[in-house]
Amino acid sequence: MAFETGRSDKREYKLPLPKMIGPAVEFYGFCKQHELRFQRCVECGTWRHIPRDMCAHCGSFKTEWAKSSGRGTLFSWTTIAQPMLPQFAPLVPYAAVIVELEEGPRMVTWLVDVPPDKLELGIPLEVAFDDVTPEVTLPKFRRRSP
Ligand SMILES: [Zn+2]
Repeated sequence: MAFETGRSDKREYKLPLPKMIGPAVEFYGFCKQHELRFQRCVECGTWRHIPRDMCAHCGSFKTEWAKSSGRGTLFSWTTIAQPMLPQFAPLVPYAAVIVELEEGPRMVTWLVDVPPDKLELGIPLEVAFDDVTPEVTLPKFRRRSP
C-alpha cells in the first residue's frame, strides 16, 4: 500500500517540497526540464552534490552544471517505519535510499518501483522524474536493465 504512493498524486501532493533557495533553484530548474545535472568543477572535473560554492577537492569556485546519465546503483538505504512528519504516515514502511550515479555523486532519493523488502545493494537504477506539482519535479529512481 505504502509503496503504491511512491509516485505522487499530482492533485493532492501533501509532502514537504524543497526550498527553492540558492543553488537549489538551478538544480530543480533542470529537474523541471527532466534533466539531472550536478555541479562539476571546471578546474579538476570533480562532480559534487549537494550543490555548493566551492570544490572540496581543489578549492576552486569555478563550476558548471554537467548533465548526468541518470544511471546509477543503489548505494544504501534505510526503511522508515515510524514517520517523523504526519504527512508520511500513509507511506510507511518506505525506503529512503542513496543512489550512486555513474559520474560519482550520491543523492538521497526515492525508488518508484522497488518495495523496501526487495532492495539489494547495487541494484541498477535510472532516474524517473516525478512532476509532483506544476512547479516542482523530483528526481526519483526506478530499476533498469544492467
Ligand atoms: Zn575542483
